[in-house]
Amino acid sequence: QAKKLGYNYFLEYDNSMARRLLSTTAMRSRLQEAIEHNQLELHYQPIVRSNDQQTVQVEALLRWPQTDGSFIAPAEFIPLAEMTGQIVPLSEWVFQRACEDAVNLQQRDPKLRVSVNISALHFNRANFVDFVLNTLNETGCRGGWIELEMTESILLEGSQNAIERLQTLRRHGISIALDDFGTGFSSLSYLKRLPVDVVKIDRSFIAGIRHHKSDRVLIEGVIRIAQSLDFAVLAEGIETPQQAEFVTDLGCNYMQGYFFGRPIPLENL
Ligand code: C2E
Ligand code: MG
Ligand code: MG
Ligand code: MG
Repeated sequence: QAKKLGYNYFLEYDNSMARRLLSTTAMRSRLQEAIEHNQLELHYQPIVRSNDQQTVQVEALLRWPQTDGSFIAPAEFIPLAEMTGQIVPLSEWVFQRACEDAVNLQQRDPKLRVSVNISALHFNRANFVDFVLNTLNETGCRGGWIELEMTESILLEGSQNAIERLQTLRRHGISIALDDFGTGFSSLSYLKRLPVDVVKIDRSFIAGIRHHKSDRVLIEGVIRIAQSLDFAVLAEGIETPQQAEFVTDLGCNYMQGYFFGRPIPLENL
């Protein structure tokens, strides 16, 4: 019996922890290979304006395709890339590709803006602003076609220096979104000092709309306060028409979620 238990235990262990530990090293070198061989892809998810449900923006989301046709999700390899330092070349690749794609999208629909997720580690590099402005130049992309999405942690560490760099980017037409709002620690009073254009309410709050009064109250409050501070508000993770209606009625400016479209390759957009 003990032997059997031990064996089962080993199997279970092997399937979770050990496999993950082992695969960290393997994944690191495979990711390196993927970056070098240009095997990563950006998919795009529509962002719609609430008042007319027009797609006005698309968010670039990183995908790592596997030989069997599946994808490794960014939540699985971005934290790893942040640990190993690979996030910088990765993030540079993403931004450059997103700028190239934004230039192409402009020809299809001049109102489309592309938003790009930026890791705190990348943003905090001394040459980040130069990198961004150089890449805009090289790709022929205008600042006004790009939005940078950052999480609260960036801005929380956000010294005066971070605020100044955001202001420089905004002077070049780039807009700034505060991603996953509500999951971090930022207080609303702190929010008012930030050079931010749009606040993206995290989808965990939207998911709770139907059953939790607390989530409804929270969303309502965030929308009201954000707007009184002159930020636009975007609701993430809209999956049902009821959720879309709820946040639209509250005055939410933009929506994003599977109800409007999943992230897909640019050519299918
Ligand atoms: P995020 O920036 O908050 O992106 C939104 C995530 O929610 C995406 O997951 C998207 O596919 C998913 N999503 C959108 N609508 C719905 C919905 O209606 N329901 C549900 N359940 N999910 C929805 P994804 O693509 O797996 O990305 C996860 C996170 O990984 C992103 O969260 C972002 O923080 C990070 N990430 C993705 N691409 C990049 C990148 O190029 N650079 C960096 N630094 N981070 C990235
Ligand atoms: Mg985002
Ligand atoms: Mg988000
Ligand atoms: Mg999120």
